[in-house]
Amino acid sequence: MSLQQQITTEFQQRFNQLPTFVVRAPGRVNLIGEHTDYNEGFVLPMTINRSMWIALRPRDDQKVIISSLDFPDFADFSLDEIIHGESWDEYVRGMAWVLQTEGYHLQGWEGILASDIPVGAGLSSSAALELSVARAFWAISRWDWNPTKMALAAQRTENEWLGLKSGIMDQMISSNGKEDHVLLIDCRDLTSQLIPLPEGVSVVVLDTASRRSLIDSAYNERVTQCKLASDFFGVVALRDIPLAILETRSVGLDALIRRRARHVVTENNRTLQAAEAMQAGDAIKLGQLMNASHLSLRDDYEVSSEELNTMVEIADSQPGCFGARMTGAGFGGCAVALVQNSSAPSFADEVAVAYQEQTGFQPYVYICHPTNGAELVEG
Ligand code: ADP
Ligand code: MG
Repeated sequence: MSLQQQITTEFQQRFNQLPTFVVRAPGRVNLIGEHTDYNEGFVLPMTINRSMWIALRPRDDQKVIISSLDFPDFADFSLDEIIHGESWDEYVRGMAWVLQTEGYHLQGWEGILASDIPVGAGLSSSAALELSVARAFWAISRWDWNPTKMALAAQRTENEWLGLKSGIMDQMISSNGKEDHVLLIDCRDLTSQLIPLPEGVSVVVLDTASRRSLIDSAYNERVTQCKLASDFFGVVALRDIPLAILETRSVGLDALIRRRARHVVTENNRTLQAAEAMQAGDAIKLGQLMNASHLSLRDDYEVSSEELNTMVEIADSQPGCFGARMTGAGFGGCAVALVQNSSAPSFADEVAVAYQEQTGFQPYVYICHPTNGAELVEG
């Protein structure tokens, strides 16, 4: 039974009627463009066929009541006075709070949500939750839906309601994504361009099943190092530095900071080249760029891990693999590989076995294809 059928059935049992609306929003994986977002650069993420689903019906008061099939506790709050909760429902409350402060007219509803996006694996279950909640409110009130504005509202939810320093990529792709396409996002002005995924290739997400706790401090340290580099060159962000300038005018710049900057500058170039290769349907070039991205993240930016390096090496050595790299902030989490369609199932099996043999961790492997961004599915 699909997740859509499952929440519909569950809704029916609980409320004795079919849901008035069913909405969904997808998780995502970043193909290339890592640690470039906070340098006002480029990213190239893709939605995946794993989503957050909500089945709901409007209420005639200002209450929102929602339970998750995956988490205990349920949300029950009033739009008249939104206060903080203590569980997963913070994302729901926060989204409602942001939308109201931005002037959207919201009405109460009740329903059920469920998701097949693994939590905390780096596939962005939180952005999917935010965007599906926005779609749920929209389904009732029908304001003019602008995906990029909704992405910004979802980011504000994480930044201002939850106090997290999240970038804009996850929300942008979960709201602007499209079936069979990837999205090139300019993180400076938030313009974006949909590009078809080349035919005959599969995107495979390889979860190393390893997580690191130091990730927040390491992340903040990289942000600070990038700021030092952009200050050195007197620019707003590293996005503004061409590679030639970095190579010829960095006398006096600390060697470590220079390496960090080199990752960002070369990664921006790679991301733009990857978008071009994608447009030309050139999977070989795309794979090479992904491999180069991994080496840069491993050696210049130093955010990879033993498990990620092992996973990428194993993936790269399989037949039908065009390229692979770590994806996400790093130190653990997922890698992503570009694989010939016909090889994808055997690739998934072989990589899983070899990785477990070498590391002792049991990996999760997802063969993904891009789906639509946050949307109304029924109603
Ligand atoms: P991710 O990398 O998956 O986005 P986050 O830590 O940013 O990880 O977000 C995970 C949080 O999103 C969970 O702690 C929970 O609050 C919420 N969440 C994700 N999936 C669900 C779900 N199926 N039901 C309820 N809440 C969920
Ligand atoms: Mg998240």
